[in-house]
Parts: sequence; C-alpha cells; structure tokens
Amino acid sequence: MYYEAKNLAINNGRTYHLVAILRRNGKVVRVGENTNKTHPRFKRQYKDGTWASHMHAEMNVLRFAQPGDELEVIRFKKCDHGYTMAKPCHFCEAEIRKAGIKKVKYTNWNGDWEELRF
Ligand SMILES: [Zn+2]
Repeated sequence: MYYEAKNLAINNGRTYHLVAILRRNGKVVRVGENTNKTHPRFKRQYKDGTWASHMHAEMNVLRFAQPGDELEVIRFKKCDHGYTMAKPCHFCEAEIRKAGIKKVKYTNWNGDWEELRF
C-alpha cells in the first residue's frame, strides 16, 4: 500500500513528493499526490512571472471525502525516500475541517506519525 503511494509521490515530477491517503472504515478510498494539474482555485504567479496551478496532495483526495473519513499525509525525501514533514498547510487544514475528516495523521521531521490537532 505505502509502496504504491510512494511510487506515485516520487514520480510526480515536482520538487516535493507528497501523498495523501483517504481512508473510510480503515479501507483506502483514494490516494492522491501533489500535482500541478490545471486547477483554477490554486493558480498562482511565480517570481519569474509565469502562472502555474498546483494542488496539494490533501486537496487531491478531499474531493472524494465524506464526513468521518480519515486522512494520512506522507512526504518522501528525494534522496533516500524516507519520510519527512508533511503537516497540512493552513489552507488544506481548513478544507479538511470543512470536509468533516475526523482524524488526520502526517509524517514529521523524524519520519514518525503525528496526529493533527484541529
Ligand atoms: Zn496544503
């Protein structure tokens, strides 16, 4: 399971390799990586003047979420593919709350699981 998630994240072609796993009653509903697919809500202008869209891994799976679901967010290091900090940003956290997610786990700097308090 995590092997599949890791492949998805490592091969996303982005600087950061994150993956979010949406679970319902312990079963995986959806696995999503961070992407730069077209998404009007997340369009931003970069320093070089170009516009690009990006989507955080959490947002990628929240579209499929139902109240009471659980979320796991993992970030993989580029070098040894170990776990590192994947705490959802404030924007995602707000969306997670709105979606009615009851439990959020993420990997911290030590590569351990931590639970998001919200
Ligand atoms: Zn985010």
